[in-house]
Parts: sequence; structure tokens; C-alpha cells
Amino acid sequence: MAGTEPGWDGSRTLTFRVCLRCARAVPSSSGERYCINDGSLLLEHCPSCSAAITNPYARYCAACGLEFAGIVLEALA
Ligand SMILES: [Zn+2]
Ligand SMILES: [Zn+2]
Repeated sequence: MAGTEPGWDGSRTLTFRVCLRCARAVPSSSGERYCINDGSLLLEHCPSCSAAITNPYARYCAACGLEFAGIVLEALA
């Protein structure tokens, strides 16, 4: 691995919001709260343990193993 990714200093962890319907992920810094594909509320962190989502391809919580696909966000509001 040569070079350093811009914005990645190793101490600050990137977090993402993910769409449970189409699996789209956006960086939390984008400010998007709803999926631009289908209007679903994006999952910001694990609803079970509140761990941040640090991988845009995450389908399960890395901290507690919760499967994101089974979550119904509307019920959490
Ligand atoms: Zn979506
Ligand atoms: Zn969790």
C-alpha cells in the first residue's frame, strides 16, 4: 500500500449511514438522512448497541452481530 488516503488519518473513524431497503451507503458527513433511491430513513447506527457503522458494506453490526436487514426503522421513531 503506497500513499495515504486523503482524510484518513487513522485516528478518526469514518462512519456511514446505510439504506436497509437497497443497501446504499453514504458517509455520515454527507448529511443525508433519507435514501435518494427510495426515500427510506437511513440507518445511522446499530439500534441494538448504538455502535457506529464504519463499513459501507456492513450487513451486520460489528459489535453485537445484529442483522441490519431485519430492522424496521419506522418502529424505532
Ligand atoms: Zn435505499
Ligand atoms: Zn450492535
